[in-house]
Amino acid sequence: MIGIAIDGPAGAGKSYLARTVAKRLGYIYVDTGALYRTVALAMAERSVDIADAEAVVAQLSTVSVTLDYAEDGSQHVYLNGRDVSSEIRMPEISMGASRVSAIPGVRSFLLDLQRNMAATHNVVMDGRDIGTVILPHADVKIFLCANERARAKRRYLELCEKGVQTTLEAVESEMLARDRNDSTRKVAPAVPAADAVILDNSDLDREGTVEAALAIIADKLA
Ligand code: C5P
Repeated sequence: MIGIAIDGPAGAGKSYLARTVAKRLGYIYVDTGALYRTVALAMAERSVDIADAEAVVAQLSTVSVTLDYAEDGSQHVYLNGRDVSSEIRMPEISMGASRVSAIPGVRSFLLDLQRNMAATHNVVMDGRDIGTVILPHADVKIFLCANERARAKRRYLELCEKGVQTTLEAVESEMLARDRNDSTRKVAPAVPAADAVILDNSDLDREGTVEAALAIIADKLA
């Protein structure tokens, strides 16, 4: 099986890139952020204090997170059998996901699901620790990044399109706080793997980013 890992901070455009590359190559796209978001949603619905790692881990035995794919290749994520793919996109869930993702028990809870996907399908998997922890032997590792302003603007426009009321400043400060959490946490911090290719797309549009990534992939798989 072929594994392509795409890691990087929030707003760099990982999901668009991973989804598009997966479609072009005929691979499955695995959005791993959705898994942490689903755990965060489960905790919010049960009013569990996510600052209490033990309480979060104690709930996990009654949480089931599963994935499947629609005919158009889009990923759906289920919390105990309920499709929560839209709900997990709300901004308040983003920060919750970042906080639960720093709990080692949550990361190990989601590990097998991610590795099993890669063991049974050719995958393009996006996240924060795919190249470092989940698939350390991935065939291709790309670390996608862009400057803070560019990332905040993209995320802001995305939320506006979904009808979420917010401001560029609010999006930027939430995004930076989340990146700080993600890149400084003790377990699986969001840092590039030693053998990752860094792709900075501050000055590239979506299609330019896809072309640059496909060139990297063709080179690595050659
Ligand atoms: O990618 P997305 O923004 O949906 O991820 C939500 C949060 O989940 C991230 O801020 C990060 O804390 C966490 N995450 C992670 N490891 C991954 C994917 C996401 O810790 N592989």
